[in-house]
Amino acid sequence: MSTYSELCRMYGSEVDEEELQTRELFEKPRGERRWLGRRNHKGKERLHNAVKDSNYIEKTVTSTEPLSKNAIRKIKESTKDELELNVSYSLDKKNRWMGADTVALLGGTPENLNAEIVEKNVVDKSIFAVHSKRVNFEQAPGEFDVRSATSSGKGQHYSNFLPKSRELGKKANANQVVIKLPKNSIWKNMVTKMKLRMKKMMVIMSHKTHLKTLLTSDLYVDTCDKQKKKKKNDRGSPEVLNALEPEPDYTNLLNIPDYLRQEGFTFEKFDITFHNQEDNFERQIDELRLEKKLIIKDLRPQQYLIDVSEWCQLDGEVKDGETTAVIVITQLKKNKYNFLINSTIAIDPPKRGCVALIKRICHATTLRQAISHITSEILTARKIVETMRISIQFYGRKTFPELLRDPDEWENQMVNMSWPNQYYHATWANSEELSQVGGKFEWKDLCAMAKRDSKLKTGYTSNDRCGSCNQGKRSHELYFVNNESKLKCTECLKDEFYREVRARRVPIDLETDTADELEYLPTFVPLTIINLYIRMISEIIYKDLGAVGDFEKCPACKSAVFFESTSEEDAKKNQNRSCPCGYSWCKHCDRVPHWPLKCGDFAEWEEKWFLRYSMKHAQGSGTETLLQVTCSCQKQVYNVLLPEEFIECPGCKVNVNMNTMRTVWKHYYYPYDPVERKLIKKGYYVVGEGYKKSPYVPQAKVYTDIVKIPGIKASVIETCGAARDIRFDVHFRNRAVYREHVLIRKGIMEEEAVENLFGTSVYLVETVTAWMYMTNQFDRSVMQTLESMMENRKMLMATLSGEESEAIKECIKKLRKDINYVVSAVEKKNSQIS
Ligand SMILES: [Zn+2]
Ligand SMILES: [Zn+2]
Ligand SMILES: [Zn+2]
Ligand SMILES: [Zn+2]
Repeated sequence: MSTYSELCRMYGSEVDEEELQTRELFEKPRGERRWLGRRNHKGKERLHNAVKDSNYIEKTVTSTEPLSKNAIRKIKESTKDELELNVSYSLDKKNRWMGADTVALLGGTPENLNAEIVEKNVVDKSIFAVHSKRVNFEQAPGEFDVRSATSSGKGQHYSNFLPKSRELGKKANANQVVIKLPKNSIWKNMVTKMKLRMKKMMVIMSHKTHLKTLLTSDLYVDTCDKQKKKKKNDRGSPEVLNALEPEPDYTNLLNIPDYLRQEGFTFEKFDITFHNQEDNFERQIDELRLEKKLIIKDLRPQQYLIDVSEWCQLDGEVKDGETTAVIVITQLKKNKYNFLINSTIAIDPPKRGCVALIKRICHATTLRQAISHITSEILTARKIVETMRISIQFYGRKTFPELLRDPDEWENQMVNMSWPNQYYHATWANSEELSQVGGKFEWKDLCAMAKRDSKLKTGYTSNDRCGSCNQGKRSHELYFVNNESKLKCTECLKDEFYREVRARRVPIDLETDTADELEYLPTFVPLTIINLYIRMISEIIYKDLGAVGDFEKCPACKSAVFFESTSEEDAKKNQNRSCPCGYSWCKHCDRVPHWPLKCGDFAEWEEKWFLRYSMKHAQGSGTETLLQVTCSCQKQVYNVLLPEEFIECPGCKVNVNMNTMRTVWKHYYYPYDPVERKLIKKGYYVVGEGYKKSPYVPQAKVYTDIVKIPGIKASVIETCGAARDIRFDVHFRNRAVYREHVLIRKGIMEEEAVENLFGTSVYLVETVTAWMYMTNQFDRSVMQTLESMMENRKMLMATLSGEESEAIKECIKKLRKDINYVVSAVEKKNSQIS
């Protein structure tokens, strides 16, 4: 779902209280539309001008042979820049990218690799130039040639730059330059083709003129009906698209309070006096500047913004794709400060509110200590919030915002639970090769894009009255606006910002006299909204520049991920999507990837399949009720078919008598309830008969009448069940991947293939079987191939435990053949239907 549709989702039908009170603000515009007013035009044009000529670079590795992840990692490590693969970087940052010229980039690539730098237009994918490195083994090590082929004027297709076609037809009418260069890196064991692709953001001339005309006229004020939208869509002039987005009126204004409730946030402001602090403010801040993981920005004298995002994240986790937390500290008096905690992560309800916060951090002896106290709380909260998201998908009894609001739920979140659904979205459990992997954007670059021209300095004032609401405010709550002609308080500015975001009149210029308005926004707008705003702008700019596709926020790492439009024929890539971080989902329904099943069929299938699969693995042999128990050990969920006398948790081995619901003695294990356990530890309690009486109180029990569970054909359950058993088994996956690494190190295997083959094969067995069943398209040969796939998978696993190179290769080949057959057979069937 794109940011835009994310917004649409938020245009709730309920009318927000706050909006009702300020109804006149949202009155339907009469006459000339307000959001086409001059100021916003200017803002948009300025933004457009600021980014239209900017260069982006993206490093991707492509190869004629499939490359293993390990090989890709090695290539990445061997190139001497800090560019992550497949991330678009802005080339505007002066010092950082001064050296990003063709020669330096090629020089940074590994030896023995043919590397190319491809300059291309992202609008139409045409290529302006190809610079290729020619490794000449007769030259001294450290030297290589560069051959540049450039296209004059319009871009060309890549094939036109290949030496062969140039000699034949001179299509590219290119100039060839050969430069001899000293080489600086030596790298062995890798002969493959690598392309460093330089992305050049350019707007073709006609496009530019077109845009200008549109921007300065009010021509398209009334072009909102659907037909015209479609037509313009086809013509592919992207700037028209966002102008044609639904007209902001009551029904489709972004509901900000609702968005905040859905996403969660922390925005806490309070004054605090530290009694135990001796060092002065500036010195403490200077010391904090030495912390590598903190980013400190000077806002005004005595006011600093500290980006603590990295402190709110564990080492080794996938890096957050957005700013998640900042703390703004303003010194009021010697040891008296104003603290502002602004985070996208919600914290425990009883821990919110200034009184509670002050109490917890006022004893800190340094600011650093206070900050780390806050960040470790956010870190804990983050883990709980994550389990909440998993648990709503599992139980579905409460919505996410409801869980966030309920203090009991915060206490009861089972963070150590192995959830049956926790790997559903993992690419290894689905299939990376059957989904479209999006391009991740660097958050800093998106922010840079959203910035407005910076002023020289930030004007500031003493305590005064706000020029808008006339309330008396303290100096750090006031901003000069319109060239120091007026004062506005943070509350008024926030209202103004919300008003603009609501109507999607972006970019927003509050006209504050600050060096960089975007950096000051976190002092009065929740980060959750600022991040949404940055995504909105980026999407609009990119589409203005001609990019065709969707922006999405990765549900796992929160990165802004761009998915280019795919061709209509490639249905699987139109449906399954993955973030480079390893999270995948369905483009249309946000659920687990499920191609070739359509969303509706999948929803129906999933519901009964989940229960039937649970029954397959349930304890007991009753025929009346399926009971799903979330054990009190908070580690395991298990199923029982009732009636049954005894049940046992596979995690903690507690044995329960179903007639009395009391735990039963099991040699070596005594389950006690927590109170008793504490008493025993303290020595108040003698181990004896008492344990027999302790009642078993699971975290959750769900009963389902077996007769009400829709049936599925036994053979389908059999096939799908066998696939599912391995599909989400993380231990199996880890063992296989580990074993493969060992074999690669020993030189028995050449490249990584196992993760993808295993993921794709079991994914196909489960979903294609379900698809044939749900859509009545039984196909004997597909069915047989699926069966042989399971067999070949087993064989591959068996050969992996040995060390015979040829046998492994053979198995991989067979499995690959099966996969290709099934995919093409399904595609053929689907195209016949449609
Ligand atoms: Zn005000
Ligand atoms: Zn991600
Ligand atoms: Zn779907
Ligand atoms: Zn248990």
